[in-house]
Amino acid sequence: MPDQPLIRRLDTRAADFAADLRRLLAFEAADDASIEQAVQAILADVRTRGDAAVLEYTGRFDRNPAADLAALKIPASEAAAALAALPAEQRDALQAAAARIRAYHEHQRAESWSYTEPDGTLLGQKITPLDRVGLYVPGGKAAYPSSLLMNAIPAKVAGVAEVVMVTPTPDGARNPIVLAAAAVAGVDQIWAIGGAQAVAALAYGTQSIAAVDKIVGPGNAYVAAAKRRVFGTVGIDMIAGPSEILVLCDGTTPPDWVAMDLFSQAEHDELAQSILLCPDAAYLDAVEASIEKLLPTMARADIIRASLSGRGALILVSDMPQACAIANDIAPEHLEISAEEPARWLELIRHAGAIFLGRYTSESLGDYCAGPNHVLPTSRTARFSSPLGVYDFQKRSSLIQVSSAGAQALGPLAATLAYGEGLDAHARSAEFRLADPAA
Ligand code: NAD
Repeated sequence: MPDQPLIRRLDTRAADFAADLRRLLAFEAADDASIEQAVQAILADVRTRGDAAVLEYTGRFDRNPAADLAALKIPASEAAAALAALPAEQRDALQAAAARIRAYHEHQRAESWSYTEPDGTLLGQKITPLDRVGLYVPGGKAAYPSSLLMNAIPAKVAGVAEVVMVTPTPDGARNPIVLAAAAVAGVDQIWAIGGAQAVAALAYGTQSIAAVDKIVGPGNAYVAAAKRRVFGTVGIDMIAGPSEILVLCDGTTPPDWVAMDLFSQAEHDELAQSILLCPDAAYLDAVEASIEKLLPTMARADIIRASLSGRGALILVSDMPQACAIANDIAPEHLEISAEEPARWLELIRHAGAIFLGRYTSESLGDYCAGPNHVLPTSRTARFSSPLGVYDFQKRSSLIQVSSAGAQALGPLAATLAYGEGLDAHARSAEFRLADPAA
């Protein structure tokens, strides 16, 4: 029996291609009832008992007992010291990445606007930042300072007054790079708590932690379930699915480069999805050979292998326009257009979280330091949603200031519609202003 291929091959000319593609994209988010139950109980307990419950769960799940919650507050001076103590190369990289992320997000800041009609009526929109934002930084199994920068910097650029970060510290071990990144991003408060109990503390408030207005940031299944449940009491960013990359290649990029780009998402986890679309069958052979050659050199080879063989694919298309049409159907989180003329194909793309143009633009540059946000819509949600940005930390209020003349013009309109809806008070409130006592 031949060896199982590392990654499946599909061909758009095959009769069952459409069904194969649907199967490839299908992804069932694990819906674990025991996690839901545990989270529901933790949320209710923190809501009732506040600090005491947070302390108890932190001792149990993070093996980090403390006498009171104040002992779990990490002072700003500790974050500043962590930054100062980093090796210079790492500190410079964090600061350079943060500066680029800040510069990019400055362009996203929306401004208030208004206009005045000829009769003096003013209409507009007032933009205000959220007051307090909670930032979840995972700390159980791995630390992601890049995620911290990507979540905190847009909030600060929006003008959020207080960014309150929570991060679990298993066995009390504080991660110096995470603390350093918090200092670089200008996080205002840091608490060494995590999981559903931290989400509950942020959403409901406790004796020591004031409630926030929105909670952002990734986390494990407990954190995701907790964020879903507190939505409504607070805003949330999104619940991200497994990472995805789709590469559209015209066959002109070195195959090793494309193979490594596919690996760069596959190494996140076994459920990540890496797909290549190309109109050149010989090029797909070359990328497959690169995958076989490079995989044994990778530190996370086992995860990459599981991801590529489970949800990866090399797909032969008839031409680049067909590749673009399939990309729109997939609506990937990350889309690389690795081609001689990326701008030509960009015109045909409508749905993708982030679009990386040209063979020099590896998706990994976007993950860390190009500037745009790496928190992106997954699982085909790029059809209707966008990257995390400054706009997620700003709100809009409508402004209406009707002049006396405007009230004469709008009153009869409003009254007619209100009577039609049976809402008397609405109609009469508009009609009262038809006779202006000041006129
Ligand atoms: P985490 O901080 O998300 O979770 C740790 C917490 O989980 C613990 O503090 C504890 O409170 C809770 N927990 C663990 N076991 C529990 C139990 N049995 N009962 C109740 N609570 C329990 O850290 P993690 O576990 O390392 O997970 C990090 C996650 O974040 C991963 O799933 C990773 O894929 C994800 N992540 C995603 C992105 C992204 O951009 N999509 C970025 C970084 C990390």
